[in-house]
Amino acid sequence: MTLSVDASQAVKIDWFADTLSELASRAQRQRLHHGLLFIGQRGIGKQVSAHEMAGRLLCKQVRSDNTACGACQSCDLMQAGSHPDFYWLTTDKTQIGVDLIRSAIQSLSSKAQLSHNKVLIIPDAHLLSDAAANALLKTLEEPTPSTFIILVTHQHNRLLPTILSRCEKVIFNTPTTAESLDWLAKVRQDDAMSLPQDLLIDERSLAAYGGAPLLLLDSAEAQNAITFTRFIDTLKSIESGQSAEVDLLDVSTRWQNDAEQVIIWLQRYCHQQARQQSRDSLATDTDTDYWQLYTQTTQAAQKVRHAGTNKSMLLFELFNTFREATHYVR
Ligand SMILES: [Zn+2]
Repeated sequence: MTLSVDASQAVKIDWFADTLSELASRAQRQRLHHGLLFIGQRGIGKQVSAHEMAGRLLCKQVRSDNTACGACQSCDLMQAGSHPDFYWLTTDKTQIGVDLIRSAIQSLSSKAQLSHNKVLIIPDAHLLSDAAANALLKTLEEPTPSTFIILVTHQHNRLLPTILSRCEKVIFNTPTTAESLDWLAKVRQDDAMSLPQDLLIDERSLAAYGGAPLLLLDSAEAQNAITFTRFIDTLKSIESGQSAEVDLLDVSTRWQNDAEQVIIWLQRYCHQQARQQSRDSLATDTDTDYWQLYTQTTQAAQKVRHAGTNKSMLLFELFNTFREATHYVR
């Protein structure tokens, strides 16, 4: 369970309320397609919404606004994570194999135990192997009654066309910056997550995660992994001349698996600084040449994609260049 899922349970995500309401309303009128495909960027709350949608489909006393009542036996079991007619496919994040799909379909073939509906959610549906997709296809073509299958993906182009054509596509748009920041502020205020004090929640850090608020939140969980907060802290230390405190080789080694991300952030940072300099007309011969650094990060961004590139060494060289360019005796 990730931090963002916990957070969305504590502070409700509301930017998809209309979409879910419309789907639930159609379900009430028996007009909802049994195969749904939730499409949208990673980290914006699609899986959380799929879970909420399942709750609405299983609730025994759906409210007039099409939300789950939160009080019936079905809602209780959903909250406890033990609803007998709800299936959440858990994957190892590399591939969804045919055996897993077969056993999920098997579960769906039995009669609903509690609610009249049954729901299967397949997160990261783009990981379906071809065999698994084909096994699923039959169920999508000839569904058992009162069964809903919700596929969730941020890479729908990787799905077989046959799967795509048999599902109703539901597009989830990325929330606005204001919506995201507002929600993140509430999550911080709620304090149930004990977010690290130093976790940056602002426009720039949100942009670093492609505008996806749940990705920003999940970054706080990663112990050794690179987060935008740690990245910016490190850059600032180097820039302010405290680089003696930053062991560049250590940082480069720890971040090598995320080298592409780090380089993109550094590239963007140098670009912003360069533009700032141009605007402020502060560029004098004693100032750091951020355009030059930007060019170097662009070259590194190409290099990092080549097989066989020593990523930690590439990062180390880049940080060293950055240190030399930004911190010298003036
Ligand atoms: Zn209910």
